Amino acid sequence: MVRPIRYNIDTAVPQRSGGLWRCLRTGLAVLFLGISLAGCAEYEPAVVERPITWDAERERLSLAYLEARYGLTPVTPRINPKMVVLHWTAIPTLEKSLEAFEPSRLPQTRPDIQTAGALNVSAHYLVDRDGTIYHLLADTLMARHTIGLNHCAIGIENVGGTPETPLTEAQLKANIWLVRHLKASFPITYLIGHHEYTSFEGHPLWLEQDSAYRTEKTDPGPAFMNDVRRAVKDLGLQGPPKMQNP
Ligand SMILES: [Zn+2]
Repeated sequence: MVRPIRYNIDTAVPQRSGGLWRCLRTGLAVLFLGISLAGCAEYEPAVVERPITWDAERERLSLAYLEARYGLTPVTPRINPKMVVLHWTAIPTLEKSLEAFEPSRLPQTRPDIQTAGALNVSAHYLVDRDGTIYHLLADTLMARHTIGLNHCAIGIENVGGTPETPLTEAQLKANIWLVRHLKASFPITYLIGHHEYTSFEGHPLWLEQDSAYRTEKTDPGPAFMNDVRRAVKDLGLQGPPKMQNP
């Protein structure tokens, strides 16, 4: 949304008579207005509600995951968001990324994490390469995206992350906006990249019960995290425990 800008030309430039001065005054006003519009236009990404399947099976598998992984037995698979975790899908297109999260049950293509639960992976948000934000899941429902921390973490996935599809400037801007939006809505304390998640082992928020259940992650990488953290520094969000004051 662009805020309406009220520019009172006569307070900016004192009144003078003469055609040349009028011309100069008009030119200055146009210049000021242009600078103001460029500098003050508020960035508002497109946010599209695009829910993935949340059916009785997904709810049941989510509850089973919370109990098996964390020893939690809530009535509904709700979370109290305290953390935002940024990711990339390592899938180059929006459509294929959505397809990966759509089924409630983990497909057979993921034998690496099958033994830890049949719930499919997902995230709360998926950011397309043009910066459009797709909202996949209610912020307070559990998504399986980060071992040990899903009970308190909102996941933001970004389409891409392959060598041919590095994350874009538009995605960076959308992630920054989304982190600010979530911090304004929930008591978020931590902001981490998925590649940093194992730093939480031993932290009170780390609830994974199996010390052998880990996957090695590189997403979304330190460069992207540095850019996001620099832009939201004023929010005072903490990084992972072993890298305070990043
Ligand atoms: Zn990830």
